[in-house]
Amino acid sequence: MPAERVCKSCKRIYEGDECPNCQSKETTTNFKGKIIITNPEQSEIAKNLNIKQKGTYAVKLG
Ligand SMILES: [Zn+2]
Repeated sequence: MPAERVCKSCKRIYEGDECPNCQSKETTTNFKGKIIITNPEQSEIAKNLNIKQKGTYAVKLG
């Protein structure tokens, strides 16, 4: 199983060639914690982390 990759710009965890959020290709596999945002408009966590799109995100980059 390949390691999960996180976008360095927006912390989105994704599979594929580029970040579906910001089209960045800069990734890291070194991160801590994981949150799934399903409703960014109503999530305090999403607001705190400045997340505007649903998806799986890293809480902290290593
Ligand atoms: Zn991104």
